[in-house]
Amino acid sequence: MTHYSWFSVFAKALGGNKGWDRAWRDPEPKAAYDVIIVGGGGHGLATAYYLAKEHGITNVAVLEKGWLGGGNTGRNTTIIRSNYMIDVNTHFYEKSLKLWEGLSKDLNYNAMVSHRKIYNLFHSPSQMEGFAKRYNIMRSCGIDGEILNREEVMKALPYLDYSPNARFPIYGAASQPRAGTARHDAVAWGYARGADMRGVDLIQNCEVTGYQRDASGAVVGVQTTRGDIKAKKVGIAVAGHTSQLAEMAGLNLPIESHLLQAFVSEPYKPLIDTVITFGAGHFYISQSDKGGLVFGGDLDGYNSFAQRGNFHLIDHLLPEGKAMIPCLSRLRFQRTWGGIMDMTMDGSPIICKSPVDGLYINCGFCYGGFKATPGSCWFFAHTIANDRPHEFNHTLTLPPPRRRYRMAEKRSPPMPRWH
Ligand SMILES: Cc1cc2nc3c(=O)[nH]c(=O)nc-3n(C[C@H](O)[C@H](O)[C@H](O)COP(=O)(O)OP(=O)(O)OC[C@H]3O[C@@H](n4cnc5c(N)ncnc54)[C@H](O)[C@@H]3O)c2cc1C
Repeated sequence: MTHYSWFSVFAKALGGNKGWDRAWRDPEPKAAYDVIIVGGGGHGLATAYYLAKEHGITNVAVLEKGWLGGGNTGRNTTIIRSNYMIDVNTHFYEKSLKLWEGLSKDLNYNAMVSHRKIYNLFHSPSQMEGFAKRYNIMRSCGIDGEILNREEVMKALPYLDYSPNARFPIYGAASQPRAGTARHDAVAWGYARGADMRGVDLIQNCEVTGYQRDASGAVVGVQTTRGDIKAKKVGIAVAGHTSQLAEMAGLNLPIESHLLQAFVSEPYKPLIDTVITFGAGHFYISQSDKGGLVFGGDLDGYNSFAQRGNFHLIDHLLPEGKAMIPCLSRLRFQRTWGGIMDMTMDGSPIICKSPVDGLYINCGFCYGGFKATPGSCWFFAHTIANDRPHEFNHTLTLPPPRRRYRMAEKRSPPMPRWH
């Protein structure tokens, strides 16, 4: 497979851009693999990549019912950051951010990682205290973060509403300079190419419909729409469909599927060169390289497997955006879409060996699974390869016995739709 470089781009350009290799093969499924990963999103692909790269396990297949990256990975708003407060999350997301920093080089694929900074606005003194606590915890763990006062925010983000009658007064912001964005499709494609290069079979249009079990009940393969396939180990990385895949193995997981929506505007001149989150609601904004303003929204508020958003949320979010950035008021919206989130009780993920032998689970990423992709899959691959968790994910297991429901990052109680 061609190594991407300035030289190869230049040489191919001289040849009329003919003769580029396929980025990955399109193999038929084999009868058996050492490891099968269900789900060809960022997590499934990255897990296969790290199994091959870090552990030398290359007899691996990724089974995807649709096309690679067509689930939440291709629908997310691409924010990456590591500004978490709860002990295990702090280190976990920081490991992920470190992997993001070298990802394009590691994959030999431009994941378009942009450390454009994040500003978390706060709108009351108590919110400021909450953020100060979170950012102090981060800093004590060696993670970058700063608290800015109102004047500093005015200088950095002059287009917000600072008027005396502003609906949401701005007291200041917490900011993580290394946070930013990455190109979602490129991340899926880069991991796909990297895994394929190491021998992993990526099999699309192949839905897993059940498991093969041996006499002891252990999972020893999967049933799919393209036939039965044997495997020594099966890992599931299917985000909002995890409860369905777990139920096929007789597991009732403590997660709920919720719908999360996002929007993009028509292309606009460069306005926002960073990521801004709005503390008075679950709303955030950034600007894509094509110029579209990307708005992230909130959950619809009830369980759903629909991959489209509903109007009540649009009605709720767009006025919030307008109140925060008045110059958006005449902007036209181009698209809205949704994805199915795997929400846990406490907002922290689950990466573990399941109670069923041969079955491993990676889920519960709520709104944060894109930024978690490199780290979580590095830990998931470690867990599958070694049959035990890494120290950073040993508490991210299924309750009981080790995991106790904690307060979520936002100090909300254990309710899947509240964090
Ligand atoms: C609107 C929106 C905005 C978001 N914004 C952000 C953000 O800014 N930052 C962030 O960190 N996170 C964000 N997220 C969350 C993030 O997108 C997800 O947590 C992450 O992409 C999950 O990756 P995944 O690979 O686990 O899941 P997916 O990308 O959903 O992949 C799972 C795959 O499994 C496949 N599958 C399901 N069932 C089966 C089956 N039976 N057999 C075979 N294949 C199956 C699906 O087709 C799918 O392709 C956002 C999500 C949404 C919806």
